[in-house]
Amino acid sequence: MEVIKGKSVFGGIVIGKIAFYKKSNEKIKRYKVDKPEEEVTRFDNAKQTALLQLDELYKKALTEVGEANAAIVQVHQMMIEDLDYLDSIKNIILTQGVNAEYAVGVTGDNFSQMFSTMEDEYMKERAADVLDISNRIVRVLNKEEDGRFKLTEPVIIAADDLAPSETIQLDKNMVLSFITRQGSTNSHTAILARTMNIPAVIGIGEELKQEYDGKYAIIDGFTGTIYIEPEENVLKEMEVKKKQDEEKKILLQKLRGQENITIDGKKINIYANIGNSTDIGAVLKNDAGGIGLFRSEFLYLEKDTFPTEDEQFAIYKYVAESMAGKKVIIRTLDIGADKQVGYFDLPLEENPALGYRAIRICLTVKDIFKTQLRALYRASAYGNIAIMFPMITSLEEVKEIKEIIQEVKAELAETGIDFKDNLELGIMIETPAAVMISDLLAKEVDFFSIGTNDLTQYTLAIDRQNPKLDKFYNPHHPAILRMIQLTADNAHKNGKWIGICGELAGDLSLTETFLKMGIDELSVSPGLVLGLRNKVRESDVSKILKNW
Ligand code: PEP
Ligand code: MG
Repeated sequence: MEVIKGKSVFGGIVIGKIAFYKKSNEKIKRYKVDKPEEEVTRFDNAKQTALLQLDELYKKALTEVGEANAAIVQVHQMMIEDLDYLDSIKNIILTQGVNAEYAVGVTGDNFSQMFSTMEDEYMKERAADVLDISNRIVRVLNKEEDGRFKLTEPVIIAADDLAPSETIQLDKNMVLSFITRQGSTNSHTAILARTMNIPAVIGIGEELKQEYDGKYAIIDGFTGTIYIEPEENVLKEMEVKKKQDEEKKILLQKLRGQENITIDGKKINIYANIGNSTDIGAVLKNDAGGIGLFRSEFLYLEKDTFPTEDEQFAIYKYVAESMAGKKVIIRTLDIGADKQVGYFDLPLEENPALGYRAIRICLTVKDIFKTQLRALYRASAYGNIAIMFPMITSLEEVKEIKEIIQEVKAELAETGIDFKDNLELGIMIETPAAVMISDLLAKEVDFFSIGTNDLTQYTLAIDRQNPKLDKFYNPHHPAILRMIQLTADNAHKNGKWIGICGELAGDLSLTETFLKMGIDELSVSPGLVLGLRNKVRESDVSKILKNW
């Protein structure tokens, strides 16, 4: 058994097999393995899978392109079984003590070179085929399909780091846990793990070795500990801990249907954050009062091209209908910084967090913005949708947004499409500028929602993505608490409500502070809703002293 440690981003115990995430189109890396014989077995298994794939391909080719053309698939099958080819791969693995992908890649290149210099035209043509079969085996080793990482059984995903676009494209039913070498606790990947209710450990460093691929492990998301090939006593201990956690969750389920009310009678709304319509199940299971933040950019992140108006409409409508009249606050596109979408072709920037992102993109490329707004307004006819705008810094931005909304509504009305005219429109308060003019902004919008993740980043001048700065990133800083109070006071003076949808909303050590501040709504990962309800019900606001 080996024990390694990292930073926990979400609690829970998971037992399962590790699968290393392979980035598509990544150059094949060479790395040392401790047990080359096991690597040869891994190669043999991949070779068998590749042969099975070719069998299927042959059958398909026979019916679609006929026997003569299908024969090339048989050539590939023969080449995979070629003894010189196989010997070369196994030799490289065993003599250099390296990974199978590397051995296959090098062998494929060498054989291809050799064929291409041959006189015989037939043999010359085999140069491309040997590369083809080598790529196929590498894809199998990388668990790749259609250029994307595909999983066939639930596993613990291990990676160097995961970008939000990569995380979102994984099949959630197949992910037991995330463990990464890098990563910061405030990154969107960490947030996604929380939203998905998945134990995750990040910042493990080089201790997380590639050769753990395929091995059994236990992830203790409470302590950030990972046990590779755990001993019997550890397995037993962790099974007990897992059971206790499950019992606690069952107890919390008893709070379903109960009010979010303190001992002294103060009420607060508890909503859930989602990234996709597939999170709705967890929202309903945990009895959230609504959706406080639907990060709509994840719809863009999981696609290879712009989601159309109809595609977006279908998703917003589904979410609105599933929530059956409960409030669904959808945030418009917030890409940029760590949330990069290839097909947007965003320029490389020196300071992307301070760059071309979120509402700045929407107010520049208005077509993209209007497509989303049209989809949102169309979906508004099917439930209780509210719209929220990210990264606001000025009154002018809000006024321009409202003008664009007028245009969208006029266009929809002209074509006779049904929509709700008076949707609640809110803004995220996540820049110090927005806090400082919150008295003015409150007159322009229906509600505020504080994005404490970015508000902390911009107030403390700390990149939320930089793992080295995790210990300095302090959302409990009095500057942040005072900003929240100031914004809440300005909202209330203008008769508007205010929520918090950043990760701080789920920090139970601050629940009483937020209640005392007069926050009206807290929006958290679905899995945190009932724990937060429990905390609210144990609180007595009259006893809390203001110390910020
Ligand atoms: C925030 O900044 O707090 C927020 C909720 O938005 P995101 O984390 O998606 O930037
Ligand atoms: Mg933000």
